[in-house]
Amino acid sequence: MPPQPQKLVNKEDFHTFVDQFDTFLLDCDGVLWHGSELIDGVPETLDYLRKQGKRIIFVTNNSTKSRRAYTKKFEKMGISASPEEIFGSAFATAVYLSKVEKLEDGKQVFVIGQDGIKEEFAEVGIPVAAVEDENKPMTDEDWAKITPDDKIGAVVIGFDTHINYRKYAQAHTYITRVPGCRFIATNTDSTFPAAGALFPGTGALVSVLQSSTGRDPTIIGKPHSTMMNCIFEKYQLDPQRTCMVGDRLNTDIQFGINGGTSTLLVLTGVTDEAHLHEQLPEVTPTYYTQSFGGIGLAAQQ
Ligand code: PLP
Ligand code: CA
Repeated sequence: MPPQPQKLVNKEDFHTFVDQFDTFLLDCDGVLWHGSELIDGVPETLDYLRKQGKRIIFVTNNSTKSRRAYTKKFEKMGISASPEEIFGSAFATAVYLSKVEKLEDGKQVFVIGQDGIKEEFAEVGIPVAAVEDENKPMTDEDWAKITPDDKIGAVVIGFDTHINYRKYAQAHTYITRVPGCRFIATNTDSTFPAAGALFPGTGALVSVLQSSTGRDPTIIGKPHSTMMNCIFEKYQLDPQRTCMVGDRLNTDIQFGINGGTSTLLVLTGVTDEAHLHEQLPEVTPTYYTQSFGGIGLAAQQ
């Protein structure tokens, strides 16, 4: 029989589980909070792990916030976290373009995305091209203005609630008509959660360009190893002593599996127990439990 995930239910299970690791990579939405609502027991669990000397790294596919903006969100939620502990897909994309597959000197990036990407790029000195944000029907003159620009070395696409046809038309033109222009997606989550429901995510936005250009982007975020390599590089982790905690099988848990870490699935987000069992053995977490918050609450008993 293929390996089965072990369910953690009580204080003893949690204790044995925590003891095995030095570092916990924590997904954010669905593990720590839902949107702006903190999940029960999360501050207690973080305190418990910190008191045991564990390293905590928050790993999120959400590209809309920079590490600095995330720190503020953590503060507002009553959780302390330093920018050094936060690893978002916007920051990972900045690391990728400044350290791993470097943008050529003199080149700019055309960004479809929100402030998170622009702020992280500014921090590492990646030049961002001007974007035509206007959203009204295209005229004959407008089409003529969208032309290849040799300064564009890469198109980066992340989540953008201000996306429009002009941005797509520019991105398409650069990807298909500027020699050597790279095509990079911060992440490709098909949906994203808000107000207790799911809406089209970055993956859905990216699929427009995949369809029109016939090209697949380099994907930075979970479950891809690009983000894991950036994390291992920055923190010098031992995968054997690291556990990835998340609520989504095809991003978080697959990310841990790809990186050779152990994994803990929590059922407070997009996956319930029935869905987990349907997905076995395709994506098998090492452990699963009802809630990440349950670990700290059990420790207080
Ligand atoms: N992308 C966007 C735009 C989001 O708002 C979210 C969650 O809020 C995500 C991705 C998924 O984030 P995480 O990896 O923290 O679950
Ligand atoms: Ca999540």
